[in-house]
Amino acid sequence: MKTIDGRAIAAALSGEVSARVAALAAAGRVPVLAVVVPTDDEATAWYVRSIQRTAAKAGITCRVDVLDAPDAAAVNKRLDELSDDPGVHAIVCQTPLPAGLTLAEAGTHIAPGKDVDGANPASLGRLAVGLPAYAPATAAAVLEILRQENVPLAGAEAVVVGRSAVVGKPAALLLVAENATVTICHSRTADLAAVCARADVLVAAVGRAGLIGPEHVRPGAVVIDVGTNPTADGRLVGDVDLRERDHAAAITPVPGGVGPVTTMLLMRHVAEAAGAAVR
Ligand code: NAP
Repeated sequence: MKTIDGRAIAAALSGEVSARVAALAAAGRVPVLAVVVPTDDEATAWYVRSIQRTAAKAGITCRVDVLDAPDAAAVNKRLDELSDDPGVHAIVCQTPLPAGLTLAEAGTHIAPGKDVDGANPASLGRLAVGLPAYAPATAAAVLEILRQENVPLAGAEAVVVGRSAVVGKPAALLLVAENATVTICHSRTADLAAVCARADVLVAAVGRAGLIGPEHVRPGAVVIDVGTNPTADGRLVGDVDLRERDHAAAITPVPGGVGPVTTMLLMRHVAEAAGAAVR
């Protein structure tokens, strides 16, 4: 079974993104990404640092806006201000959000043309009907990995476990757009193993370590493990636990699979937003 190297895919994409950013900078338009951080959560801070590092390498200006103990109104107001700021091309809002505020609601305060992580429900709607839109970077990363690995999708059975608006649903929409036959599973799915075992392409986006085992995986399937689950001993593991690692054709590891590709695609989206590819 092949382990798909997400870091290598991200490195290969970084040249294209840096070249795009350099061309914009030469035209006097250095891309600016604003990251709103409404939390002091340590895992969020770690992710924001990785966004900052990747942005710096690509030549993108990254402005991190840490809000101190904000309420819902303060987050929405900040997102409105950034949406109206012509000096900002792209906006990402981190989670967790203040009590009572969902990402979908906060996302409505991000202008669609700057919504590089697909948080605005309008972006998901546009994706659903095939209009240009930024998919959430994680969902885009799932498709990019399958593309880079030359996995045939037209007519393939794809099963996505997880139906969140930021990963499961957009990943399913993108797979349908590639003419896969898609099933979405969730916590109420009856006989998850039987449904998953039909998949040529299995995407696990749940957030439960070891939920997906060998009985969920058809021999020869390609498995994309989106889950990130911290362990008691400080490691990060995915949702998939394949001990007999010859069972699937290929799998993304955690860490080093979907994560690095996600961050790089976020940068690609920032470059596109700065170039006003999406209105
Ligand atoms: P989420 O909003 O909590 O959604 C989890 C989904 O999993 C829900 O649809 C839920 O079903 C489903 N689920 C829960 N238990 C299940 C079970 N026993 N069987 C089948 N389905 C089950 O999480 P998310 O934001 O989509 O994130 C999913 C995972 O991806 C997390 O581990 C997150 O950390 C990770 N993630 C990784 C990246 C990256 O770049 N690598 C980015 C974003 C997220 P219901 O809808 O029925 O509740």
